[in-house]
Amino acid sequence: MSFDTLGLAPVLLNAIKKAGFTQPTPVQSAAIPMALNGHDLIVTAQTGSGKTAAFMLPALQKIATQTPSKDKKASVQMLVLTPTRELALQVAEAAKIYSAGIKDLRIATVVGGMPYGAQIKALSRRVDILVATPGRLIDHLQAKRVNLSKIHSLVLDEADRMLDMGFIDDIDRIVAQTPKNRQTLMFSATFEGSIVRLAQEMLNDPQRISI
Ligand code: AMP
Repeated sequence: MSFDTLGLAPVLLNAIKKAGFTQPTPVQSAAIPMALNGHDLIVTAQTGSGKTAAFMLPALQKIATQTPSKDKKASVQMLVLTPTRELALQVAEAAKIYSAGIKDLRIATVVGGMPYGAQIKALSRRVDILVATPGRLIDHLQAKRVNLSKIHSLVLDEADRMLDMGFIDDIDRIVAQTPKNRQTLMFSATFEGSIVRLAQEMLNDPQRISI
């Protein structure tokens, strides 16, 4: 299987080549075509499976193929929620690599345990992709520094860990500020109990991928 058959735009295929990836991992082969078709997805996959590219590439494709907004303060297009600061920073790093050929794309990270100043500054400019941990994002939302009303892609990464860490109310409040017609992708190492309920609440007719 090659990346060429998944439906990805040349600008993304170039970035993949530059990253040194020669073929998609199983989660990428399964998830990328379905996500490009607009489906909501529940993906059971572990860290190390290549899941970050599986959700980043389809969202980047949407961002890359649309007409750029002239609005300097255009709202966030993609939101990735992660349980930890470390994972958020990794996801933001990966987003930079995969978006290397997309002009003028802005990625911001807002996570707990880091000073507010740099985050407030980043949020005062246009942000296309926001990677966040739930608690700190709630702080910024309360201060009206972030507008989530134009999001087209929402990713809940390591959703089971976010629930284990007690983030359910924060996630509910955050998702309530995003549009109903967004595409939602949920990644989790397990799919049982409260994760199933979360998926029922937040996803629309999801396809299930289990690797
Ligand atoms: P992840 O599961 O998203 O944290 O990815 C785990 C590691 O696999 C990261 O270091 C990626 O750079 C790498 N990776 C992701 N996709 C591929 C691929 N198709 N081929 C080789 N390495 C990959």
